[in-house]
Amino acid sequence: MAVDLHVHSSASDGTDAPDVVVAKAAAFGLTALALTDHDTLSGIHEAREAAARYPIELIPGVELSVDHAGVKIHMLAYFLEPTPGPLQDRLEELRTGRAIRNNRIVERLNELGYPLTMEDVLRHAAGDAVGRPHIADALVESGAIGDRSEAFVDLLGDAGSAYVERDRLTAIDAITLTTESGGVTSIAHPLTISTDAATLRSIFEDLRYAGLAGIEAHYSEHPLAIRTQLAAVAADLGLVATGGSDYHGSGKPDLQIGSGRGDLVVPDSALEELRRRRP
Ligand code: AMP
Ligand code: FE
Ligand code: FE
Ligand code: ZN
Repeated sequence: MAVDLHVHSSASDGTDAPDVVVAKAAAFGLTALALTDHDTLSGIHEAREAAARYPIELIPGVELSVDHAGVKIHMLAYFLEPTPGPLQDRLEELRTGRAIRNNRIVERLNELGYPLTMEDVLRHAAGDAVGRPHIADALVESGAIGDRSEAFVDLLGDAGSAYVERDRLTAIDAITLTTESGGVTSIAHPLTISTDAATLRSIFEDLRYAGLAGIEAHYSEHPLAIRTQLAAVAADLGLVATGGSDYHGSGKPDLQIGSGRGDLVVPDSALEELRRRRP
């Protein structure tokens, strides 16, 4: 039996509502699904209500964009209740940081000759965590580009002409705050950090000392050989090999909940091992 520990809904930049995401996961036959929207837990309540109607467990989670010595890392945090708490209380600040940054990106796009407004962007966002994918949607609507990913090539990507930085937690603060909130952390899609095995391993080791629980070895966009290698590194370091699809609905076409691009399998044991790491 399988799980999916990395899924987005319209609470952030996915295109399916939280209850739809849960229905799709249940229809696929998953035993558990972690909803991991960017910087928000606002979809958890609806997802949990939906999960009660199916034989599926809903793990409340969030995906954070963090900094580790100048390196950008995405950190998944699990077992976080949508109630006040050490990490939960920081999420609102992070979303305010997003709003400031989104405004600056729109200004930058206007300077570059793309006439869109913040209202145009917000029409594409259903939740409280608004980001570059929604700006991309507004650019698509204006006819400037063809799809979300095209917007990241020259404009919104980290090397793009309209890219603007935003405030991030450090990786160590994210791990510490998650632990204080009763949760556990896993490094999302490690290959986006570096493709160099030694660099990755040294980052995993640094963060393991801070309390990191896992690394996302079974990621839909990792080649199969890389998934196997990362799972071996996790085992070697005493970390959990977690996994997920990073489903975003039509925001990432041809990528399904549970099976990713068709060959993803995240075993139930990944979730059980994570559960055992809870503080
Ligand atoms: P933000 O949260 O505003 O920093 O935007 C980052 C989000 O943009 C990621 O979580 C992805 O969902 C999306 N994204 C990043 N790169 C791309 C890309 N090349 N094509 C499509 N979506 C992307
Ligand atoms: Fe996203
Ligand atoms: Fe991510
Ligand atoms: Zn994600």
